[in-house]
Amino acid sequence: MYRTHTCDELRMDHVGQTVSLCGWLQASRDFGGMTFIDLRDRYGITQLVFDVEQDRELCERARRLGREFVLRATGLVRERSNKNPNRNTGDVEIEVQSLDVLNPSKVPHFTIADKTDGGDDLRMKYRYLDLRREPVQQNLIFRSQLALETRKYLSDKHFVEVETPFLIKSTPEGARDFVVPSRMNPGQFYALPQSPQTFKQILMVAGLDRYFQIVKCFRDEDLRADRQPEFTQIDCEMSFVTQEDILQTFEGLTKHLFQSTLGVELPDFPRMSYDEAMQRYGSDKPDLRFGMEFVELNDLAQNKGFSVFDQAELVVGICASGQADQYSNKDIKKLTEWMQRPQIGAKGLVYVKFNADGSVKSSVGKFYGEEDLRAWGERFGAQAGDMLLILSGETEKTRKQLNELRLEMGRRMGLLKAGDFKPLWVVDFPLLEWDEDSGRFHAMHHPFTAPKKADVERMLTGDHDTMKSLRADAYDLVINGSEIGGGSIRIHDRELQSRNFDLLGFSKEEAEAQFGFLLGAFEYGAPPHGGIAFGFDRLCAVLNGQSSIRDFIAFPKNNQGRDVMIDAPAPVASEQLDELRIDLQTEEEVG
Ligand code: ASP
Repeated sequence: MYRTHTCDELRMDHVGQTVSLCGWLQASRDFGGMTFIDLRDRYGITQLVFDVEQDRELCERARRLGREFVLRATGLVRERSNKNPNRNTGDVEIEVQSLDVLNPSKVPHFTIADKTDGGDDLRMKYRYLDLRREPVQQNLIFRSQLALETRKYLSDKHFVEVETPFLIKSTPEGARDFVVPSRMNPGQFYALPQSPQTFKQILMVAGLDRYFQIVKCFRDEDLRADRQPEFTQIDCEMSFVTQEDILQTFEGLTKHLFQSTLGVELPDFPRMSYDEAMQRYGSDKPDLRFGMEFVELNDLAQNKGFSVFDQAELVVGICASGQADQYSNKDIKKLTEWMQRPQIGAKGLVYVKFNADGSVKSSVGKFYGEEDLRAWGERFGAQAGDMLLILSGETEKTRKQLNELRLEMGRRMGLLKAGDFKPLWVVDFPLLEWDEDSGRFHAMHHPFTAPKKADVERMLTGDHDTMKSLRADAYDLVINGSEIGGGSIRIHDRELQSRNFDLLGFSKEEAEAQFGFLLGAFEYGAPPHGGIAFGFDRLCAVLNGQSSIRDFIAFPKNNQGRDVMIDAPAPVASEQLDELRIDLQTEEEVG
């Protein structure tokens, strides 16, 4: 037997017992006559003592051990004279009688402690060392618990966990596919699933009734800050359900997960239509931890001689409480420049300050009298000390820009409180989105999403402009400004699905070649069905009040999509390429 206890187990009750512990050397302290070693495993840390008086040779050996050596120590549990109240095992220590070095270790490249000096690249290259750190281990343990609770809740509700294949044909979810060449079918490729969407729908046609899977999905996107090329979803589908049934079921799951992992009781989730979210927050995933809602000013601010506002489709702003005296002219200038960066692209930023002394000051004071500005303030419900920040321009763009400003002000004002959870359902998404650049419609959610019942007829017979106004039974679960989940009621009728492919610019042949199996399945008694998928990595992060999903993935990729530990992607041997009939001619060879 390697060990009798873990490094977090021993208490005063164990005093006098002979025990064996295994673990890594976290730290050692040498006081001449005495040497102390902190021995660490996943569970905690226990102090080992070596006394020169008792065993000189053993003590000498202990002194020579380095950080991260793997040890097995056997000895007597005794009470510590100098207790450590910050540690579960802090009342006791082990008077070591025998010590085995199970494996030595090179000096690690960074300190293995809660706060490490290791930079990102180094930590990823030596991820096995990084993963020894307690906060990182806790993240993985949390993730495991979250998966377990998900399975408990869903299997209680009669969901069946079914594995769907990874080697499939492209499923358009709006990203590029990762492709895998087929050796047995030269020149042909599998695609890795962007999601199990079509399979879970087929499972509904097959009568499984309720499906779920905690599953990897793959999307070959340019990696924005918090994206991973492979990520995990809690993927679900249900038959004979309306949108209401799905929202209830998965609101239930979310509440269960918060309750069982954090002990947090969430109140019923508010719902907001997509249009309302865009109008009030300029985002389809508003952070409701704070207000600062948009207020539109067109009627009050236009036709008073300020041409920028007069020409704008929308004049809209937010009210930053108590910020009037926090922003000097220089600060406002800086904030304006921040808004003008290409990432946001605002043309300018107008402010109105309602100073604590009752005076009003504005960057557009030349164009508007105090009475005008006070009327604006009234609409915002502004108090003395508040500052209005106002943008103008084309509606959609301006709202997006103001969303960024609202979030930034929320951050600066400390309103994004950790531990405060504000979930909501965003519903009634448009079915289709017109893309000016490519001159075609895109599916707002994905091509299998059904229009609302009331819109089916208009979808089948309407003209181009009608299509822009179709609404879908599609919904997103948003928590604290993060999209946690999204789904929809699906089309289960061949004719309607064909019409949708048609609107999305697929020819009959293309639709048949890519989705013939699904269209075919719809001809054999497809039940009405719908579903949702939760971003599992994101859910882990949000529950922990953290912004990065990478911290909850054991082996994440970096921003270039590389795994720097195993050094992938990498070239393959030319024999492998030959077998796959892939010819990687360089430009020179092609000549
Ligand atoms: N497959 C969708 C997605 O990955 C989720 C769903 O509609 O169920 O976003």
